[in-house]
Amino acid sequence: MAETPKYDIVIIGSGPGGYVAAIRAGQLGLKTLVVEKDDKFGGTCLHVGCIPTKALLLNAEVYDYFKNAKEFGIASKEFSVDWVAVQARKAKVVTKLAKGVEFLFKKNKVESTQGYGRLAGPGRITVTDAKGQAREIQAPKIILATGSEAKTFPGFEPDGKTILTNKEILALKAVPKSMVVMGAGAVGVEFASIFHRFGTKVTILEMLPRAVPLEDEEISAELEKSFRRQGIAIETQAKVEKAAKTATGVAVSYTGSDGKPQAIEAETLLVAVGRSPNTQGLGLEKTRVKLERGFVKVDPYMQTDEPGVYAVGDLVASSPLLAHVASREGIVAVTHAAGKPIEPMNYNQIPNCTYCEPEVSSVGLTERQAREAGHKVRVGKFPFAANSKASILGAREGFVKIVSDETYGEILGVHMLGPRVTEMIAEAVVAMRLEGTVDDLAHAIHPHPTLTEAVMEAAHAAHDWAIHV
Ligand SMILES: Cc1cc2nc3c(=O)[nH]c(=O)nc-3n(C[C@H](O)[C@H](O)[C@H](O)COP(=O)(O)OP(=O)(O)OC[C@H]3O[C@@H](n4cnc5c(N)ncnc54)[C@H](O)[C@@H]3O)c2cc1C
Repeated sequence: MAETPKYDIVIIGSGPGGYVAAIRAGQLGLKTLVVEKDDKFGGTCLHVGCIPTKALLLNAEVYDYFKNAKEFGIASKEFSVDWVAVQARKAKVVTKLAKGVEFLFKKNKVESTQGYGRLAGPGRITVTDAKGQAREIQAPKIILATGSEAKTFPGFEPDGKTILTNKEILALKAVPKSMVVMGAGAVGVEFASIFHRFGTKVTILEMLPRAVPLEDEEISAELEKSFRRQGIAIETQAKVEKAAKTATGVAVSYTGSDGKPQAIEAETLLVAVGRSPNTQGLGLEKTRVKLERGFVKVDPYMQTDEPGVYAVGDLVASSPLLAHVASREGIVAVTHAAGKPIEPMNYNQIPNCTYCEPEVSSVGLTERQAREAGHKVRVGKFPFAANSKASILGAREGFVKIVSDETYGEILGVHMLGPRVTEMIAEAVVAMRLEGTVDDLAHAIHPHPTLTEAVMEAAHAAHDWAIHV
């Protein structure tokens, strides 16, 4: 009988949590195996999440430039969307990056195998391949990085054509004429922004009182205003009750914000109401791993309650479902598993980015959270309408808002809505990590003309000393 293969560490799942952990494990000299059920590496992020959506958002932006070409003094009479070419470019970007993961595995001597991984007992994993053949692998350390899937409900099952999740919508054969988006979280508003700009009539229905509900309230209000101005219909406090397929699409029934029953018809319905962790079928019931509403409970080093078993990424309880968080958790887990020193996870300084139009980004406490936490809050705000680069770009919507503590000027949170703000939030993350104050941001000389000057000006505004307003 063949001997059971032995590794120092086995990682189940190759999304940004798993593959980053694997590369670091290789760098640390561990004999490493990645088990991935799909025939490609990269997970949700690379194949049906971050990367394809941002690729489509760029196409939508380019199309927008064509539509507004006159404003830039360019006459462009004939142009149209070639959806097949749009999809092909997206696929090319994804394939290139997936090959990159493969290359990095080789470079760092990370082995991989295709199959469904599950825990089979202390230090043991079973891998079942597509033909149903199971084999056992041993490793003293195991990282669960199996991610999440879109939440669906009975009556809202995706059919690939009319009722869609993030997966099916990315494979649409044509731009739909109309779409109802259920949920105004990051996924919902990003797809709304993409398809609205390609010409789809979009209606967003959100059960909570505001769009992007985890963001600062002023950001939500400004985004909703912008969406309405652009022609994206958005109704909050609207509870979707039923989706019935029709000859031309889908009839969506919901209870409106006035408490009255409403109905709307569209060609497609995107269900974007959150994610479910992939913890089923992992063999967790035979272990000491504890779950919280299906998500895996871990300590700040990503250790579960089962000795030697770690969990990272979307399947972790109370961890924001973001690729960069999954990757950091992967590095923390694998370094700890290797017995090397590493800072535990700190969830207070995580950048949140939503790549809708206009973009949203934030880190730290919202104004309300800061007040509720007992801080003496000082807010500095600066509008992009007063920033020179924003005028050059023709994108003057939005603002930068800094929430600080009045006592020493500690930066508690930074919130932005506007052009390219997802590229700008890292400055605030670094400042907060270095325990910087609002004065540090104000006195750090920012280059001109750039959008980043709005951060400096918002810091000056905390003392009512903004120059350009
Ligand atoms: C539409 C959309 C857009 C997004 N955009 C962004 C964004 O712009 N920025 C951002 O930070 N985040 C974004 N996210 C979130 C991001 O994709 C996730 O947070 C991230 O992918 C989580 O990484 P992960 O490694 O935990 O899991 P995943 O990326 O989900 O990877 C898990 C992997 O595990 C594999 N797997 C599952 N079970 C098993 C098993 N039993 N055996 C073997 N393999 C298994 C899966 O096939 C998959 O490859 C987006 C998500 C969506 C849906």
